[in-house]
Amino acid sequence: MRLSRYFLPVLKETPAEAQIVSHRLMLRAGMIRQQAAGIYSWLPLGYRVLRRIEQIVHEEQERAGHIPLLMPTLQPADLWRESGRYDDYGEEMLRIRDRHGRDLLYGPTNEEMITDIFRAHVGSYRDLPLTLYHIQWKFRDEIRPRFGVMRGREFLMKDGYNFDVDRDAAVHAYNRHMVSYLRTYERMGLQAIPMRADTGPIGGDLSHEFLVLADTGESEVFYDSAITDLAFGERAVNFHDPQACGEVVAEWTAPYARTDETHDEAVFAEVPEERRRTRRGIEVGQIFNFGTKYSEPMGATVSNAQGRQVPVHMGSHGIGVSRLVGAIIEASHDEAGIIWPEGVTPFHCGIINLKPGDTEADAACERIYAALRDRGLDPLYDDREERAGAKFATMDLIGLPWRITVGPRGLKAGTVELTSRRTGEAEEISPEAAIDRVAAIYDGL
Ligand code: ATP
Ligand code: MG
Repeated sequence: MRLSRYFLPVLKETPAEAQIVSHRLMLRAGMIRQQAAGIYSWLPLGYRVLRRIEQIVHEEQERAGHIPLLMPTLQPADLWRESGRYDDYGEEMLRIRDRHGRDLLYGPTNEEMITDIFRAHVGSYRDLPLTLYHIQWKFRDEIRPRFGVMRGREFLMKDGYNFDVDRDAAVHAYNRHMVSYLRTYERMGLQAIPMRADTGPIGGDLSHEFLVLADTGESEVFYDSAITDLAFGERAVNFHDPQACGEVVAEWTAPYARTDETHDEAVFAEVPEERRRTRRGIEVGQIFNFGTKYSEPMGATVSNAQGRQVPVHMGSHGIGVSRLVGAIIEASHDEAGIIWPEGVTPFHCGIINLKPGDTEADAACERIYAALRDRGLDPLYDDREERAGAKFATMDLIGLPWRITVGPRGLKAGTVELTSRRTGEAEEISPEAAIDRVAAIYDGL
């Protein structure tokens, strides 16, 4: 993309309404525009990041054997009357009436609808295990929408639902989701720690929230610092193998890590004092096992191996796709702006032309731009007639992890400058070497 032809409405002033850094930076970098309280347009730069996060979520879900579909945002109220949640859900549910007087709602989550799909089409244990998921907009009429996309009213969520014949199989599905989520967040350059959590209005007996540690987080969390030393890395886990998934879960659930809702001072006191931490965290996902809570009232049964009809065991598993954009910025920024992890960056590399109009500088930039695109990368080329300082400031604000700076002086010596946004380190190398380096960084990501 050429910046001269892109739509990047960066703001010079710091918006007064934004209380936390990610919200400020998303507004300043021209990523979002608020349309109503807690409701945002995703401008091109923000939309690119959102799509990259979605893409990682899809890839990791499919790796775990989960199947994508798409359910609507509007749901008939009758489904929720069957589960009993239409009245229970309260003021957070946006209720709508159509021209025929039928009650609808803008879905805050989809347990009822997926259970309806299941009961209509699946009848035998032979069709299990089955996990279906989608990435769809949700609406919750939050009493206090704030912090930009972190607590919106309309927000994008991945929600997945497992269907299993008995509790053991459902616990495997739960574990499989935990393993898959560990991989998912790491690919986004995040450490998201699974913590024992309350099940809340979703129900059930087993739940973990995934939290990114940040002072601006809304949850208070208590953990053994040993858990922050764990990394999933490149392990190849067989997602169909209950034992393999169980071992990973055992490793991550051994150290104490709980949200305030499940925190137990007496158990926490057994953690060696120097490893006890009390911090704040941003919830970027949650997994639940709730057994037959929805399948029983809604009549979602399967015939088991003995030929008996039994209610199917279920769980649900959410990732806050749009909240993640803010959470990643909270975890990765500096004074000058955002620092995108390579896994989610909107453009792989910036190219700055220090002297547009200079024949050699223009030609070198064009060559680098074309070569990066040939390697399957998306560079952002700042080809505008602007002061160098303004170009650097924009690049730093929007946070591309790598920048190639091209100017007549360097070109005389046969070099361009390759700069890391994270460390600020710069190297004078040939254009070819810079292209190779950038391509190698993204290879395999
Ligand atoms: P919270 O406690 O933050 O209100 P929740 O526990 O009600 O969230 P879940 O039902 O677990 O949310 O939804 C799954 C994920 O969706 C959450 O982990 C979070 O990342 C995201 N999410 C929930 N509510 C919002 C919101 N209002 N704005 C943006 N993302 C949200
Ligand atoms: Mg939650």
